[in-house]
Amino acid sequence: MMNKKIFQNIINKKTHSKIIFQDEKITAFHDISPKARIHILIVPNIFIKNLNHINKKNLNVLTYMLHMSIKIAKKEKIHKSGYRIIINCNKNGGQKIPYLHLHLLGGEKLKNF
Ligand code: 5GP
Repeated sequence: MMNKKIFQNIINKKTHSKIIFQDEKITAFHDISPKARIHILIVPNIFIKNLNHINKKNLNVLTYMLHMSIKIAKKEKIHKSGYRIIINCNKNGGQKIPYLHLHLLGGEKLKNF
């Protein structure tokens, strides 16, 4: 099931996925298949399909996702060693789940592109 319901179920606590942080705007949880020692996904609680659906009205959601990712990086103590933030968009960008999400990766030296 690679659809938006995966993340909606996590946000609505209908799965056993461990939520790291949640407030009225965003939810953060561990990626089920981590690509680094720390791999956290940050999603907006309101449904946005991908970056192409960001507009002036909802831009604050994206800014907030970024802001909270940086906060989480600090809480996870990976901010000094460094980390990477990725947002995939559509097929060529490698987006598999059609629900906007930000990858926070760190805790080890990441490979370059
Ligand atoms: P994308 O490739 O769409 O940018 O990233 C989707 C991410 O969601 C992948 O890194 C994948 O491992 C993760 N993922 C897929 N299904 C689940 C799930 O059921 N739970 C969690 N926590 N992560 C998932």
